Amino acid sequence: MGTGLVLFTRDLRIGDQPALAAAARECDAILPAFVLDRELLRRAGSPPNRLAFLLESLRDLRSSLRARGVPLVLREGDAVEETMRLVHEVGLSAVYMSADHTPYAREREQLLRRHCERERVRLCSFEGVTVIPPGSLTPSGGDHYRVFTPYWRAWSTEPPRAAARVPSRLVAVRRPPPAGPLPGLSRLTSRTPPAARQRGGESRARAQLERWLRRGPARYGEGRDELGAEHTSRLSPYLHFGCLSPVQVLERLADVDGEAGQAGSVAFARQLCWRDFHHQVLAARPDMPHADYRPRGRLWREDDDAADAWREGMTGYPIVDAGMRQLASEGFMHNRARLIVASFLTKTLGLDWRLGAARFASLLVDADVANNVGNWQWVAGTGNDTRPNRVLNPLRQARRHDPDGAYVRRYVSELAGVDGPAVHEPWSLPPARRRGLRYPEPIVGPYS
Ligand code: FAD
Repeated sequence: MGTGLVLFTRDLRIGDQPALAAAARECDAILPAFVLDRELLRRAGSPPNRLAFLLESLRDLRSSLRARGVPLVLREGDAVEETMRLVHEVGLSAVYMSADHTPYAREREQLLRRHCERERVRLCSFEGVTVIPPGSLTPSGGDHYRVFTPYWRAWSTEPPRAAARVPSRLVAVRRPPPAGPLPGLSRLTSRTPPAARQRGGESRARAQLERWLRRGPARYGEGRDELGAEHTSRLSPYLHFGCLSPVQVLERLADVDGEAGQAGSVAFARQLCWRDFHHQVLAARPDMPHADYRPRGRLWREDDDAADAWREGMTGYPIVDAGMRQLASEGFMHNRARLIVASFLTKTLGLDWRLGAARFASLLVDADVANNVGNWQWVAGTGNDTRPNRVLNPLRQARRHDPDGAYVRRYVSELAGVDGPAVHEPWSLPPARRRGLRYPEPIVGPYS
């Protein structure tokens, strides 16, 4: 049977954790470990929102494992070197981990596999980041789906794997190395995350799912685009860090009853399918984070002032500024607002989608390379949208998805005193009222 190292990456949970379940089944004793990967910290520029969420998730994972008698060992450095160092120190015979399909994760697994083979250590990796693993559904004559609808059709008839149970018994290796303290956030980044961001951890993820299931599914189909309401699940950071698996979410959705609830569950499953879709595109096209998926010869403008106004939420378009300010104050943005601000940057201002994706990556708690660049390219018309020239009119979007202006008033404090839908068009207010608001004039347009 031997002993196994369970290497956690972005699968920070013990429920439906196929690598942990297999190690518990196949090994006499296990050593769970997490490596704070210096290369990833460096590449990501240590975004404080995500680091704080990660540390909270690790704390939660550590206490769940400790309650079951096994420590979570924390190391810092190069993921492969530190893993192999632990394997040697403890004399382990196998490494168990989750498969992941970002370019970086694939390279890491390949390198680790080479080291393990050299040392005659088994490396076992398990799918679980998505519902359907990238590459396992393919259209005839292609290596991945390029268009969402046929992918959704194939995806929704594919039975998902059964969620792995939490192992009933975990046995720790006899002399585990020191667990190592969790670093304080201030050692990893000098920037402070906003107080309003979501907190990490499997326990909070489960609580959030149950909270949403109590009321969410019945309103989801109709309400998911309503900016002023809270009809979406807010599960994205938990899914990104693997505090919850998408299969666990699907299993709970299957229990939802009532016509509206079931319709909402299908609409929600469709969003999880979008997540899988973007992951399978990225797996097939690892250059996607920087290169256009479908180059259409678009020439992006250069305009630092416009880019700064967009980043700071000072474009003079309340709906765009509300989205950008929600991002800065919560590390989150409603999906409809993401679509509006992304269309505004790329289609209205004509600026490169990479600027927008970088801003999102530096602030979103749920920033995820597949979802982020997949969606940015979709909106910019360089990705998988079959209507690449569509432009979202920010004013029409605002009237439709924030009819009373509640979303704008919540995030754009200068406009908090403007009642009703008039908040979307401050340029139409009487000049004296407008001057008193101290809100910028529109940087382009205005739209009508
Ligand atoms: P819900 O509506 O409750 O959806 C449930 C889950 O489905 C989400 O948690 C998410 O995992 C998945 N999902 C929903 N919409 C999408 C979508 N369009 N694409 C892929 N998965 C989806 N999502 C991220 O997780 N990380 C990102 O970095 C990210 N960047 C985006 C950038 C742009 C320009 C746009 C337009 C969308 C982006 N999204 C991203 C997708 C989407 O906006 C978020 O997943 C969603 O807003 C998260 O809120 P929620 O959990 O309440 O969503």
